[in-house]
Amino acid sequence: MQTKIPEQIINTPQGKKADAILRSCVHCGFCSATCPTYQISGNELDSPRGRIYLIKSALENNEVSQSSIQYLDQCLTCRACESTCPSGVEYGQLVDIGRELVEPKRPLWQKAYRASVRLFLTTPILFNTIALFIKHSSISTPEITAEITTAQVLLLTGCVQPSLAPNINHVTKNVLATLGVEVIETAQTECCGALEHHLSAQQKALQQIKNNIDTWSELIGSGVEAIISTASGCGVMVKDYKTLFEQNDPYYQKAVMVSEKTKDIAEYLLEKDLSVLNIKANNISYHAPCTLQHGQKLPGIAEKVLAKVGIHVNTITDSHLCCGSAGSYSIFQPTISKQLRKNKLQHLSASNPDTIVTANIGCLMHLSSGTDIPVKHWVELLDIDKNSHL
Ligand code: SF4
Ligand code: SF4
Repeated sequence: MQTKIPEQIINTPQGKKADAILRSCVHCGFCSATCPTYQISGNELDSPRGRIYLIKSALENNEVSQSSIQYLDQCLTCRACESTCPSGVEYGQLVDIGRELVEPKRPLWQKAYRASVRLFLTTPILFNTIALFIKHSSISTPEITAEITTAQVLLLTGCVQPSLAPNINHVTKNVLATLGVEVIETAQTECCGALEHHLSAQQKALQQIKNNIDTWSELIGSGVEAIISTASGCGVMVKDYKTLFEQNDPYYQKAVMVSEKTKDIAEYLLEKDLSVLNIKANNISYHAPCTLQHGQKLPGIAEKVLAKVGIHVNTITDSHLCCGSAGSYSIFQPTISKQLRKNKLQHLSASNPDTIVTANIGCLMHLSSGTDIPVKHWVELLDIDKNSHL
């Protein structure tokens, strides 16, 4: 794709990156076939290619209309288009740049609304108070301590997960302890920066990210084998830290190290001997979060771990499509979000499962608010105590 981005933009790191991404797009439109919003509306401007043109136009200093901002807002950042694109267009990075560029053009009421949602979700005392009423699960099994330590890992506990579904990290720690892995936990209030980053509050996000990089790289230096994430939405953000710094930035090398040490719990467990686990579960439907299959480029990874311990999950139609959760998307775009949830739950329920499992707290909360079928993190199926292993 040809571009005519003015010098004052193209000479910035973001402008340079956006230009390179735009030039890699051959506007073939293959990506539209897997775009959830295009499937719903049938409108080219609601497709990846349409949004790429809108971002190009903004970068070329053309006027940005309120409807252009709306089409960018309606993008789920699910990155299904990246999985389909034959030219390797890094759409996720481009849409973040595009959104930051159009942010100042929003009406005041939108800016205020977005800032208040950000504040609420990232202020532990506010969020934890509401979480008391919407809490999803509690810890129901005793804690196991690692006896033979084969490795030491850092577990990203997440900022909302410990309040909403503490059992996920609890079971993860028990599974790792059973495998002889010692777990260090991050502080529960530590945010990976995803929320601020995707809501165009880049300066705040960058501060959080730098704080995390400083703390975590020190732990890596003292022997931590991997940084483990049980929420694929946080995992993809941390894996993307390395794309946020220029090569000459003092944080670049440390960001690369943190990103490369980060693993989803499924990636980590897939490399381990899991024969010690003795699992009982059947009739399970699995929802693959976009942040795991498209963002982290790990399609089928959780299913492989489950198969390794003897759990077969039901195959579902359109498993590549987003459930509509997408971070704060369900708050800002409730109509599309609910439509996508309805579609997803229809496919997940088709085989009358006993349980639906997924790999991200956002998807888990969103799906469970639309069904009576229990929804869990897949790692909870590995609950040592419930499976009578010990
Ligand atoms: S993003 Fe990829 S699939 Fe979509 S139009 Fe561009 S080159 Fe084609
Ligand atoms: S990220 Fe998802 S919603 Fe956005 S353009 Fe790509 S496929 Fe469509």
